[in-house]
Amino acid sequence: MRVAMVEQSDDMIGGSCINVACVPTKALVHAADERRDADDIDAYFASAVARRDSLTAAMRKKNFELLDTVDSVLLVSGRAEFIGERRVAVSAGGVLPHLSAETVVINTGSQPSMPPIDGARLGGRIHDSVTLQHASPLPARSW
Ligand SMILES: Cc1cc2nc3c(=O)[nH]c(=O)nc-3n(C[C@H](O)[C@H](O)[C@H](O)COP(=O)(O)OP(=O)(O)OC[C@H]3O[C@@H](n4cnc5c(N)ncnc54)[C@H](O)[C@@H]3O)c2cc1C
Repeated sequence: MRVAMVEQSDDMIGGSCINVACVPTKALVHAADERRDADDIDAYFASAVARRDSLTAAMRKKNFELLDTVDSVLLVSGRAEFIGERRVAVSAGGVLPHLSAETVVINTGSQPSMPPIDGARLGGRIHDSVTLQHASPLPARSW
């Protein structure tokens, strides 16, 4: 089959698992487990984050190459939106040519939901699963 795959973010090629979910969280957990008492906490945290980032970047690149090198796969960067039955428009700045197909698989994943509480984002003390992974400096404690 010829397949077109639309992804809205270049930072999310390969999906949540390798970019903002399973892999980066376990990389940080693993690094925390490996830390020795003698390690400087801030320097160790910075290097763990850098290792996490290079791991996710490498996996993202590999995922891109795996798809980009297959002739039957067309990777499209942009946000997809249905404009008809089995017909999708992709916008990325401007609107790209429409895609239509016999089979359309909707695989949009999920995203963190923030309750509508005024000021909840102020002060940087409330996190979701994505922002927590980029907390800096390392929080003094996690409970
Ligand atoms: C913090 C965290 C840790 C996790 N750890 C684990 C774990 O250890 N083990 C495990 O099994 N699972 C884990 N999960 C769950 C796992 O990450 C998800 O179940 C899985 O990634 C979902 O895959 P998916 O293909 O359904 O969606 P996703 O991987 O989220 O893919 C959906 C993609 O669609 C894109 N997209 C969305 N809307 C559009 C649109 N309109 N146009 C174009 N593109 C769009 C998104 O950018 C995204 O890249 C974790 C989740 C989180 C949040």
